[in-house]
Amino acid sequence: MNKNTRKPIRKIVIVGGGSAGWLTAGLLASEHMGLEGQDVSITLIESPDVKTIGVGEGTWPTMRLTLQIIGISENEFLSRCTASFKQGTKFVGWVNGDSEDHYYHPFTVPSGYGEINLVPYWQEQRDKVSFVNAVSIQGYLCDRNLAPKQTTTPEYAFVSNYAYHLDAGKLAELLQEHCTQKLGVKHLLDHVTSVNGDADSDIDSLTTANSGDIEGDLFIDCTGLSSILLGGHYKIPFVSKQNILFNDSALAVQIPYVDSNSPIASQTISTAQSAGWIWDIGLTNRRGIGYTYSSLHSNDEDAREVLRQYVEDTTGGSVKDIEPRKIAFQPGHRKKFWHRNCVAIGMSAGFLEPLEASALVLIELAGQMISEELPANRSVMDIVAKRYNEKFLYRWDRIIDFLKLHYVLSQRSDSAYWIDNHGPEGIPESLRENLELWKYQAPWHNDFSQVDEVFSAASYQYVLCGMGFETQVRKTKRQAENADKAMQLFIDNHEKANKIIGKLPANRDILNSIAQQGPDTP
Ligand SMILES: Cc1cc2nc3c(=O)[nH]c(=O)nc-3n(C[C@H](O)[C@H](O)[C@H](O)COP(=O)(O)OP(=O)(O)OC[C@H]3O[C@@H](n4cnc5c(N)ncnc54)[C@H](O)[C@@H]3O)c2cc1C
Repeated sequence: MNKNTRKPIRKIVIVGGGSAGWLTAGLLASEHMGLEGQDVSITLIESPDVKTIGVGEGTWPTMRLTLQIIGISENEFLSRCTASFKQGTKFVGWVNGDSEDHYYHPFTVPSGYGEINLVPYWQEQRDKVSFVNAVSIQGYLCDRNLAPKQTTTPEYAFVSNYAYHLDAGKLAELLQEHCTQKLGVKHLLDHVTSVNGDADSDIDSLTTANSGDIEGDLFIDCTGLSSILLGGHYKIPFVSKQNILFNDSALAVQIPYVDSNSPIASQTISTAQSAGWIWDIGLTNRRGIGYTYSSLHSNDEDAREVLRQYVEDTTGGSVKDIEPRKIAFQPGHRKKFWHRNCVAIGMSAGFLEPLEASALVLIELAGQMISEELPANRSVMDIVAKRYNEKFLYRWDRIIDFLKLHYVLSQRSDSAYWIDNHGPEGIPESLRENLELWKYQAPWHNDFSQVDEVFSAASYQYVLCGMGFETQVRKTKRQAENADKAMQLFIDNHEKANKIIGKLPANRDILNSIAQQGPDTP
């Protein structure tokens, strides 16, 4: 280890001004800057020559807390980012591709979650009601394009748990303004040309095209797919996961609504296709639509035609041609994320695919952990780094399992893509074990070892039940005793849905009213 190891970590340098860079800057600055006697500084360097990736429009409910920590008014965020409310994902055509084939993965946990596992009781009536409608009100709300809150519900509070759909470019602009004007983050619009320091020691500084050398104690690599610090300088290997998750390409377009009063969907719509799936995300002013697919199973021309057809079908023929943007990526992640005094967050750490929108949430989790565990000095940094790497490697593995689950459970065999997805060699051992177990017991808390799992048993229940997986549950005394309780929870959920449906405004209406009203000034 070089230099004075007891020297406090004061100068944080973030490279990259996409969602990863600005969310990280906001989370760190709101916790560590502006305190009397505290002299942490944060500089964010952003290249004027390298564009941000410009996609990443679906979030998790965690984003509500993240924005609150950073200190942004929700109404301002919604208006500035043309954002809308998201209550989960609707999966269309994933099970068998029939015209009625769809299910929801909502953000609310099933009724009674924590004390009673409702899957065995629901199975007895699976032909009468879908799992989501038996245990949650959210499918009912999504079917009707309803908002998750009333106009009088305070900012960030909810009637039904929610996240957002947002314009990623506008989010970066809003965060930049907030971080520089309110939190004291220094913004340097310059291109990093070299990383200074030996490969087997800490980074001393970064050389920029026009602003000289920028020194730091901790360097955060948010440079997107180029990963210039962790990948480029330190050569931390990239671990490809393409043998498990095949998608490596995307075609993205922005489509206007048919008219300005068209409903705004309250969920991401994910529609399975012959070599991948299409996301459809409704913002207030447009839809963001994209086809993510495997280049081994489709060429770009065929993919473009699949996307064009989807757009034509879902706009009632009003949009017949499209000019999509192609994005290529390799599914996988770095072998580790924190090395010496450098940690990578966002695409520079890795990316799997857009399914279940797990990238922004990993950025939020990374920013939060670094903020909470910010090493006091260089001598403890390696300990924090080791724990950080263990935690995030575990999280990437769990996300890989959960994403692959969607493909493994599909009964589709209408193209090589779906057939190959069933190949046993592409199914992680941990997922294979769980699936074997879940033939006889429904997913529950014991299946996951950490308190802050990225995907909990609730998420697995929604996907397994939604995709028709059957569990042959062993009868137990407690299960028999709880039968009345389970039945009551089903009845209560149904009644709650009926009551709430009439009280919630349409997504479009509440968002229009928020836009007219402007931000709540704290
Ligand atoms: C097709 C697709 C769909 C996606 N959908 C979702 C989704 O729905 N939900 C979700 O959570 N995530 C999604 N993601 C992921 C999401 O887009 C990213 O995680 C997010 O945008 C963060 O990107 P980033 O900030 O890491 O990188 P980028 O946006 O690429 O930003 C990189 C930054 O680094 C800067 N930079 C690069 N080189 C230099 C240099 N030499 N000097 C200085 N600065 C430099 C650039 O100027 C830029 O500011 C999707 C990704 C893809 C590919």
